[in-house]
Amino acid sequence: ASASPSEEKNYIVMGTNAEFEPFEYREGSEVVGFDVEIAKAVAAKMGKELKIEDMEFNSLIVALNNKQIDFIAAGMSVNPEREAQVDFSDKYFKSKQAIIVKADNNEIQTADDLVGKKVGVQLGTTGDLFVSMTEGIEVISFDKGPLAVMDLKAGKVDAVVIDAEPAKKLVEGQSDVKVIEAPFVEEEYAIAVRKGDTELLTAINETIKEMKENGEYDKALATYFTE
Ligand code: GLN
Repeated sequence: ASASPSEEKNYIVMGTNAEFEPFEYREGSEVVGFDVEIAKAVAAKMGKELKIEDMEFNSLIVALNNKQIDFIAAGMSVNPEREAQVDFSDKYFKSKQAIIVKADNNEIQTADDLVGKKVGVQLGTTGDLFVSMTEGIEVISFDKGPLAVMDLKAGKVDAVVIDAEPAKKLVEGQSDVKVIEAPFVEEEYAIAVRKGDTELLTAINETIKEMKENGEYDKALATYFTE
């Protein structure tokens, strides 16, 4: 808000990890997904171009605070550790953690059954935090969720803990892995900006509200989500 017009950029930069279908993923060279729809609407509202920087999930908060990116739209769950480092928008999506196992695994039915097992997670995610806090789980972290599922298929880990909607996408059309329907940690996603960046935060909150009111939010859900 304090920048003079000459200093103001004509674009905003979204930071994300485009390995998280349906929220952000690649279609050819383009990054698409539910979060991208919100980001596009924010840019349009501000009259700016949208640029997207694709990086490891675990690097996003540092990149934001180094001003490499202007906001994080990455299916990022709000938690106290992150709230100490960034400002979050209004929450825009209710999520929960899910467990993926091999299709023929009947031993792991709930989160408690992960104790004593090797569990794959995506580094720096809330799924990583959860299993790392649970005593007796051997945590194997990956830079990307899809790599964890590859190791599950190869028998190198017993289960993968990842957010529910991406979990559905990761097993879609695959007969050798499945998602367990067990009640698990619930979370909510929000968009992160640098602390004190109220101009961008306000534009994001207004955009989320308007998209919910004008039907664009539901339209994006219908476009990207598995029933
Ligand atoms: N929602 C999880 C988190 O915030 C995972 C996000 C992701 O992997 N993109 O940590």
